[in-house]
Order: sequence, then structure tokens, then C-alpha cells
Amino acid sequence: MQIHWHRQDLRAADNRALARAAAAATGDAASTGDADGAAPRGAVIPVFVFDDDVLEHAGNPRVRYMLDSLSALRSWYRERGSDLVVASGDPTEVLPELAATYDADRVVWNRDYSGLARERDAAVRRALNEHDVERESFHDDIIHPPGSITTNDGDPYSVFTYFGRKWQAREKPDPISPPRAETLADVSGDDLPTIDELGFEDPDADVPEAGTEPARERLEAFCADGIYRYEDDRDYPTRDSVSRLSVDLKFGTIGIREVHAATESARERIVDVETNGDADPDDERIDSIEEFQSQLAWREFYTHVLFFNPNVVTGNYREYEHDIEWRNDPEELQAWKDGETGYPIVDAGMRQLKSEAYMHNRVRMIVASFLTKDLLIDWREGYAHFREYLADHDTANDNGGWQWAASTGTDAQPYFRIFNPMTQGERYDSDAEYIKTHVPELRDAEADLIHEWDDLTPTQRHGVAPDYPAPIVDHSERREAALSMFEAARGDD
Ligand code: FAD
Repeated sequence: MQIHWHRQDLRAADNRALARAAAAATGDAASTGDADGAAPRGAVIPVFVFDDDVLEHAGNPRVRYMLDSLSALRSWYRERGSDLVVASGDPTEVLPELAATYDADRVVWNRDYSGLARERDAAVRRALNEHDVERESFHDDIIHPPGSITTNDGDPYSVFTYFGRKWQAREKPDPISPPRAETLADVSGDDLPTIDELGFEDPDADVPEAGTEPARERLEAFCADGIYRYEDDRDYPTRDSVSRLSVDLKFGTIGIREVHAATESARERIVDVETNGDADPDDERIDSIEEFQSQLAWREFYTHVLFFNPNVVTGNYREYEHDIEWRNDPEELQAWKDGETGYPIVDAGMRQLKSEAYMHNRVRMIVASFLTKDLLIDWREGYAHFREYLADHDTANDNGGWQWAASTGTDAQPYFRIFNPMTQGERYDSDAEYIKTHVPELRDAEADLIHEWDDLTPTQRHGVAPDYPAPIVDHSERREAALSMFEAARGDD
């Protein structure tokens, strides 16, 4: 028997480690990559371990989505005469125990790239070794694993553009088939714990429907429409042109090869139907598809950055001459968290986070800039808040996003480019539709007045939206203060 240890790959299809174990179950030479064939290794037992160390860093929305995904995955296995075996505790103890219980002599899993996960996996490897259990891990979560896209000198890239070009030019593997029912072990697992039993609460936010089928529906809907408008519309939070796949990619309810293949099919559809096979170089829809693929490349870029620099989780990627003297202002931090800053687009974003466990990318950039450059508060405070409330919180992407906004990251926003939250709101939400959706106090206000909120007098503000706060800081003053803070850190005179 073999064990497949599910972690951030809560799916059966397009799952490399699971497919390799399933192929080995029957000694399928071609799929195991063994030219001479191999002896059958026995059926695969799918396992999930609730690990306290991982749960310690989780938030309610993520635990909800994870439990729902596990439930969907379990149904998939049950429909094929198998089951998802669930256990709790330290994987270094639980996995050797499960291997003994089920007489399994091999454990496989897909790799995680964060420093903590790699330490855990090394410990699991040692523990299994002590029990004479074979173990093997596979690259699966991203298309091109760390170390496979480097500078000509073999170093990891610290600038996205060159990385992105190489990433795009590389051949992409096809999606991987799910295991056949006969390769899966006839086992039955205990019930999944409830969210309370795990020490969490049902979130106030509406967490998206979890599991592979809803993820595929999101992908399909996006590839039928939004992907063709992505380049022009992706920055506008109400244009419904983004995929909303981040939570699925984070928990692996859908495989990255499957996502990429769907984007290629979207390209083929317009090329074949409209031009008889010849791509029109001026077709903006092709640029849009490539722009979307480029976001998948950003995801992989940040995973590489995290892999080669595990310390970025808590430390700046980019060192300044001196420490950045962030301000510590609990009241302003709380106003930001509550969406009560008096900057409408910022507050709309922070409230979307609470109500949907999600925030649109452009707005993430705006609120992150506001925290670090207007409130001058350390990006780690923002990262911790996002980690708690985002369903799609992903160490590499969240960290990459925050350090980009804080001008401390790799290929980050230069410190002197500071978003003006009023003009950002006016540009990307000109009708204030997004703002009104999330900030009910402004629902009856005219868009023009919302975009002038910082210029209105207290009396005017009272007339327009009496319950909405005045701006808690003056953007122009804080912009100057932020420049001084960074110049001091740089050691400029
Ligand atoms: P789409 O626009 O449809 O993009 C498709 C996929 O590409 C996303 O699902 C995601 O996997 C990837 N992607 C898109 N943009 C980025 C990016 N800038 N960096 C890395 N990958 C990207 N993304 C997360 O997945 N988890 C996070 O915790 C996270 N935190 C962020 C924090 C900040 C401060 C910022 C500025 C960005 C953060 N992002 C994070 C990146 C981005 O905002 C989200 O991936 C995106 O908004 C998710 O929506 P979507 O799936 O509709 O994206």
C-alpha cells in the first residue's frame, strides 16, 4: 500500500504525486517514468493531517474553505469506493503511525515551498526513514519549480520582467489525469472535524463554494468572457473581468496545468473560429490572455522568491541603509482594519475583505499603499491582518504583494511612487459603484462628491453622508512624511 499525503492539493485531478502513486499502484511503467517497468506498489490511501502548527497561522475563512474542500474531495474518493483518511497531530508522528496501521511502505506528497513547510517536510522524511517507509515528493503547485528559471549565471531572478519572459517561452506540461478507481485503496475514514472542534468559528464572510467542481466553473466562466477583456478591465473592481481563482490555487482545488491549458484553449477558440488558424497579431484578446498568464507567472515568481529567501516572511527583502522607522499608531491601524479611514476606496476594500474574505487586486494595492505610505505603519501589520481575513492568503503572494507596496520587496514599487487614494478611487471606480457596494454610508452620495471627500468642508460632508468619517490623515502631509521616512532609511541627506 502507499499513502498520498494531501496538503495544499485538495483535488484528485491534475495532481502529480497522486498520479505517480496511482501509476505505481499497478506498476504502470510509462507513468512511473521507469523504462523497465516496476513491481506494483499497492493501492493508494489518500490522507489529510490536521497539523496544529499549520492551523496556528490560519484564519476562520481559510479553515472554512479548507473543510469544505476536504468534504468535496472525500465525496470524490467515496464515489470511487475509497475514502479520505483524516488524522490530527504532528505529521512526523501521524504519518509513520498511519503507514503502520495500513501496512503502507511508501508515502508521497507534493512539495510546499515556504521555509516552515520545508522544515516540516524534512522532519517527516527523517521520521519515515526511521520507520523504513519510503517517501517521495514532487513538484506540482507551480508549473516551473524553483531553480528551473534562472539568470544565465544560474541565480534566481530578482526582477520579474526577465523571469516572466522566460516563463512564458517555456513549454507547458499537459494536465494530469486523476487516478483510476482501481488504484485507490478500499478504506474508510473518520468524520471530518467541525470548524469549532478545530478551534475556529464560522466566518462572517461569504466564503466561495469550495472544491474542484466550483473551481472549474469559475475557470470556465472566466475563460468564456473575462479573459478576453482582462488586459483592459482587470484594474477596475466592478468590471467582473478577473478569475477569482486565487482561493482555488491556494488550496489546490484546481491544478495549475489545468488552469493554464484552459487559457490556451481560450486562445485556440478565437484563433480557430475567427481566423481559420492564423492568429491576428493585432487581436487585443490574445494580449489579454497573455496578460492573465503573466499573473500566473507572478505567482510563480513570488514562490521562487520565497523559496530562495525564506526570511522574507518576517523580514524585508530589500535592505535599506538604516531600519525604516515605521510609526506605531494603534488607533490609525484600527481605523484601517475597520474600513473607517475616511478614504472611500480604502474603506471599501477593507470592508470587502471582511464581507467576502477577498479583495480585488487593484484595491489590495491601494489599501497596502495607504497603510505603509499614508499611515506609515509597518507592512507586517497589514500582512498579519490579510492572513487572518483572506480566504486566499498565500504566504508567497501575500508577502510579495505587501513588500511590493511597502517598497521593501523584490521588483517593488519605488519608495517615491506613492498612490493618491483619492485619484486611485476616481480612476478605477469613477461611478463609485464599488465604493457604494461596500460602504453603505455613501450609497446615496453623488460619485463626484465621494471623489472629493477629502476636499469637502465638515458642513458639506455632513450634508452628503453624515455617518461617514472625515479623512483621518491629510494625504499630502503624510506623503511628505513617507518620503522623509524612506530617505532617512536610505541614508540620504
Ligand atoms: P486574477 O487577476 O484572476 O489572477 C489569476 C491568478 O494569478 C490569481 O488567482 C493568483 O493566483 C495569481 N495572481 C494574480 N495577481 C497576482 C500577483 N500580483 N501576485 C501573485 N500572484 C498573482 N494573491 C494571493 O493569491 N494570495 C494572497 O494572499 C495575496 N495577497 C496580496 C496582498 C497584496 C497587498 C497585494 C497587492 C496582492 C496580493 N495578492 C495575493 C495578489 C492578487 O491581489 C490576487 O492574487 C488576486 O487579486 C486574486 O484575484 P483573482 O484570482 O481574481 O486574480
